[in-house]
Amino acid sequence: MAERHSQGPLILVPKNDLLTRLSVLAMSARYDNSCSSSGGRRETHPYGLGNSHLSGICHTFSADGRCVSLLKILMTNVCTNDCTYCLNRVSNDVPRAMLTPEEIATITVEFYRRNYIEGLFLSSGVYCHPDVTMELMIRAVKILRHEYRFHGYIHLKLIPGASRELIEEAFLLADRVSANIEFPTETSLRRLSPQKTLSELQRPLQIVREIYQERNRKAPASTQVIVGATPDSDKTLLSFSETLYRKRLVRRVYYSAYIPVNRDETLPALSEPPLLREHRLYQADWLLRFYGFTTEDLFEEGEYLPLDTDPKTAWALRHPELFPVEVTTAPYEELIRVPGIGPISGKRILQARRYGTLSEEVLKKLGVVLKRARYFITVQGKPLVILSSSQRKALETRQLSLFPELLEKPYVSSGL
Ligand code: SF4
Repeated sequence: MAERHSQGPLILVPKNDLLTRLSVLAMSARYDNSCSSSGGRRETHPYGLGNSHLSGICHTFSADGRCVSLLKILMTNVCTNDCTYCLNRVSNDVPRAMLTPEEIATITVEFYRRNYIEGLFLSSGVYCHPDVTMELMIRAVKILRHEYRFHGYIHLKLIPGASRELIEEAFLLADRVSANIEFPTETSLRRLSPQKTLSELQRPLQIVREIYQERNRKAPASTQVIVGATPDSDKTLLSFSETLYRKRLVRRVYYSAYIPVNRDETLPALSEPPLLREHRLYQADWLLRFYGFTTEDLFEEGEYLPLDTDPKTAWALRHPELFPVEVTTAPYEELIRVPGIGPISGKRILQARRYGTLSEEVLKKLGVVLKRARYFITVQGKPLVILSSSQRKALETRQLSLFPELLEKPYVSSGL
């Protein structure tokens, strides 16, 4: 845990110790989740270096779904702000370091050539002023793009408070941008990030959306919210995400389980980060974006998602009147509400039933997760599993321990 002091002298890593500066800045960036593999597709210039792929520049994901093959660093961990949950806050007694734009560009290219990385995720503490910070970050990307002709993936963090011109310039140079909003309410922000306001944090995303509005496309922007540092419920967090999606401010919201790194009376005393809660929020977020669910659907019985069941199964169990679904005739919207059937397998079912007969075997081949779907579907009017009356009662009262196959393990792929 970092100790708080009252803004004494900075402990700066010496300029000639590049390795230590790099490791301090990489460590400082590790709590930011909002990097994504889904960048844009762009082939390299004939004399350029690197491609950017639709499949994503981060081909490797850690067990909890975070990508790991970007060079993910801060330009500096010097920051004028004092967010209580953040390792880099001005009042923390931690070593500080900074990389020049030239150093960032050179390191990225050298790492790329050695095949260590496939792109860059560049963020920063607020150094002097948001405009100064944004300008230095843009300078690094310009060197990469124009001098090294680097055409690989670049994700830039937009600095709230920077001028519109700089935000536009950063957005046009990068493949993806993000601005972390961190908390869904002004009350939470006031408590943990007193120098920030919701409107200031959302402004860079609004500028990006305005640039994209005329193209009628969703901007390649994302944000991150912290889970568990404030009393904000799952419903509050997901309603906030739903609003951001509806306003087309972001393509994706990342959820970051709060990791205690500081001591402060405004912070909760958690023994461990709420990782399972984070996982359930990601699952619910997928339901909002790809399955036609609303936050009202997901929170019919309270403010929090159940931890023992994935949110889609929990919804299906609350609605026995809507099941079983007959897979040979149900519309797409009903099919994808079945646990174990996703948008891809749902579309395959529509296609397959036009030309042939559906059966358990065929459904398996189409990608349906039968161990979950079998309780909620019929094929040609026949159920795939005959439940005894006590099993049915247990299912209806949601005593899920009787059906271990319905209990999804955390950190497996969504398989919703
Ligand atoms: S502005 Fe960012 S880097 Fe600075 S203290 Fe707040 S969260 Fe940390």
